Amino acid sequence: MKARIESLVRPEILALDAYHVAEAAGLIKLDAMENPYGWPESLVSEWLEALRSVELNRYPDPQCELLQDALREAMRIPDDMGVLLGNGSDELIQMLALTVAQSGRKVLSVDPGFVMYRMIGLFAGMDYVSVPLQAEDFSLDLPAMLEAIEREQPALVYLAYPNNPTGNRFDADDMVRIIEAAPGLVIVDEAYAPFTDCSFLGLLGDWENLLVLRTVSKMGLAGLRLGYLVGPRPWLAEIDKVRLPYNVNVLTQVSATFALEHKPLFDAQTQSIRVERVHLFEALSGIDGLHLFPSEANFILMRAPAGQAGAIFDGLKERKILIKNLDGAHPMLADCLRVTVGLPEENAAMVEALKAVI
Ligand code: PMP
Repeated sequence: MKARIESLVRPEILALDAYHVAEAAGLIKLDAMENPYGWPESLVSEWLEALRSVELNRYPDPQCELLQDALREAMRIPDDMGVLLGNGSDELIQMLALTVAQSGRKVLSVDPGFVMYRMIGLFAGMDYVSVPLQAEDFSLDLPAMLEAIEREQPALVYLAYPNNPTGNRFDADDMVRIIEAAPGLVIVDEAYAPFTDCSFLGLLGDWENLLVLRTVSKMGLAGLRLGYLVGPRPWLAEIDKVRLPYNVNVLTQVSATFALEHKPLFDAQTQSIRVERVHLFEALSGIDGLHLFPSEANFILMRAPAGQAGAIFDGLKERKILIKNLDGAHPMLADCLRVTVGLPEENAAMVEALKAVI
């Protein structure tokens, strides 16, 4: 079988490891940028009541009309823009690639950046090109970006705003220069929009090649797997052609529509996370040897003393706290760890554990 697998499977797939998610049972989970807050019991009961209308024997609404309306209202999506829904924003990144992929076509993003731009580009047979961020503060290297765009003529450019895994938000004027220089689509990925005050949503339409990608994952609905792409309707009409039928299941449609009717709850939760981010940053700043990077997202990237990231990660895990070790993920992330902002008591436990192990 091995020989047949090796002759059949594309070499670039053979060379990969499957996407790995750390086992988190019994641990304080500060590794995956989730919202740690639950729902009040009364809301849970109301939600379960809403699910009673679901007919699992029927396919879901293929156009997700109720959910589209709820999203438009809750997220203040401009009326003249189209919306396309995906099974997480990951699926929309995949649909974008499938829409434009041809041999030799390029996807361009920054390094270090969100890993799925590269992975999905590769799955679709596109070439991935990355431009390093500035080493000291992870800001955009605009001349290098413009030079790479000119040289590579990428079909897709991804800019996460704020960026994962670094947490900073790029300069908006630099982003505009990139949008204006790019020959293809520029997708501003606003996965962390709930944790910053800046967005390109209101600028949609100013450039014909700008799309904004969003998700409900970080605001507190990661389990539903729902992302949305917003932009000029003619683009979305083309991308919609590669969407699998019924890609957003009925439980997600009903649950997300319900949740969006209670958006103030999620706004309050994400606001608490923003406040906690400040407290956590202060607490971490008091630990000798850690270098912190300012964040506009719901996580903080930090650099440990040289060679210690692995031991710190293991030490925290022994104390039942799971964070993300990025050491080895990319040369610019040497000795780096990423912590998601959790509940105040989770953050306090993590800070205490860090002090103990560092
Ligand atoms: N974009 C960015 C920048 C992310 O960090 C993530 C998740 N880590 C995603 C997109 C994917 O989000 P989802 O598929 O949960 O919508």
